[in-house]
Amino acid sequence: MSYEPTIGLEVHVELKTRTKMFCDSPNNPDPLRRNASEASEREPNKNVCPVCLGHPGTLPVPNKDAIIAVIRVGLALGGTINPVTKFDRKNYFYPDLPKGYQISQYDKPIVVGGNLRGVRLRRIHLEEDTGRLLHETPNLKARGGKHDASFVDFNRAGVPLMELVTEPDIRSADEAVLFAKELQLILQYLGVSDADMEKGHLRLEANASLNMGTKVELKNINSFKALGAAIAYELKRQEELLERGEKIVQETRGWNDAEGKTVSQRSKEEAHDYRYFPEPDIPPFETSVLGLEDLKHSLPELPEAKRERFMREFGLSPSQTEVLIVNPSIANYFEAAVSELATRDDSATSAVEYKTQELLFNYLTTDLQGLVKEKRLTVFETKVTPEHLAHLVDLIADGKIMSRQAKEILRKIFETGADPEEILEEEGLHTISESGELENVVREVIEENPAAVADYRKGKAASLQFLIGKAMGKLKGRGNPAALQKLFAESLK
Ligand code: ADP
Ligand code: MG
Repeated sequence: MSYEPTIGLEVHVELKTRTKMFCDSPNNPDPLRRNASEASEREPNKNVCPVCLGHPGTLPVPNKDAIIAVIRVGLALGGTINPVTKFDRKNYFYPDLPKGYQISQYDKPIVVGGNLRGVRLRRIHLEEDTGRLLHETPNLKARGGKHDASFVDFNRAGVPLMELVTEPDIRSADEAVLFAKELQLILQYLGVSDADMEKGHLRLEANASLNMGTKVELKNINSFKALGAAIAYELKRQEELLERGEKIVQETRGWNDAEGKTVSQRSKEEAHDYRYFPEPDIPPFETSVLGLEDLKHSLPELPEAKRERFMREFGLSPSQTEVLIVNPSIANYFEAAVSELATRDDSATSAVEYKTQELLFNYLTTDLQGLVKEKRLTVFETKVTPEHLAHLVDLIADGKIMSRQAKEILRKIFETGADPEEILEEEGLHTISESGELENVVREVIEENPAAVADYRKGKAASLQFLIGKAMGKLKGRGNPAALQKLFAESLK
């Protein structure tokens, strides 16, 4: 029997707004606070107020920026914006949920429909995040080393959380990973979230079944790798059960990364009834007041459009293009630099233009990015401007310098911000093409290496490379290799 995997994803995204969803407490963009710079950001229960702590008598006020962010995601993914949308209460008890209910959206989500990579989207709605429980005592020593309590941090409580639900259109673990990565990129392009999985900005749950049969929900997925592995494991487990004539139980299973398997967490019988009802403190509202047409027209160029345009405009391979697509600031830098390259040909897409663009790509993504990484900056924060890099590449393309000098000059620009031509003049790094100087060196090398000369004359072509190498050494790498080759060939005729 053949089985077709049927997989749907539920994706939660913490939105990068200034304040929380229903109050003006600051929205800490780094909820795990791994990289928090200030001590105050690491302090638990710092970004809280009576509203997000669920005190009685407080009133929620929806965050317009968060609603706009969800609308922009919906428009970017081709969804329909509900003309009227509303919030609902989802009731359940858990110690990280101070109100005893979560404000979410039930039957009128902000976005319905849409499509990404051929996967239909069911809905995108907005809700509030919960607090965070710490089961490991943070100051264990002070408490006598005993795990005698759990702690709760409400800094995350009330942070705007977008939930996107797909139809079960995904057909493999790999496809699920590609979908999730592309969604992450779109969220980053839109600037609505940093969508960093490690920091919990982007959280994935997968629902997997075979032939649309009983589904199993997969939780505790903390990376794209885990997403792929959990789905692959689960599909195989289900197939083996069916082959043995057993039934799939509808349940939630957690991914155990260390052991590489899913483990049952709870079955459908224990499923919650959330008793949704309309949030009485927030009336339904019309989305048209937010200016949907303007929002649509102000969307940035999205990854797929950029991919197609870059492939068309520049002489790059798909994998080179992808390096730029996943890093918008490098992509912008590349484009800015390409526009500064000297024109070599009337046709912008000629082979020679393409070759120079590829050279630029290589210097940007290996050499400049190498320097940038050392200093933990972005390319735009360095003293090397796109103009500098373009001029440097022009010098190489015109045969005025070679890669060894180019790398040296790039480092100097990085340090001083001086123009490449200026550095070239000052440091005398010109490639030596002038025949007088080269001829002397060639004569010396021929005198000093009679064996190689004899070999070459007997027809051993490799000896020519050896002789050129010797000459290069004497010229400290600055000899023009084409000119040297010509001189040797002529002298040894
Ligand atoms: P629930 O009521 O259990 O939350 P939903 O119908 O709301 O289930 O769907 C939740 C997610 O599960 C969606 O992403 C959906 O695409 C996916 N899903 C639904 N039915 C199946 C199925 N038979 N196999 C795989 N995924 C499914
Ligand atoms: Mg659901």
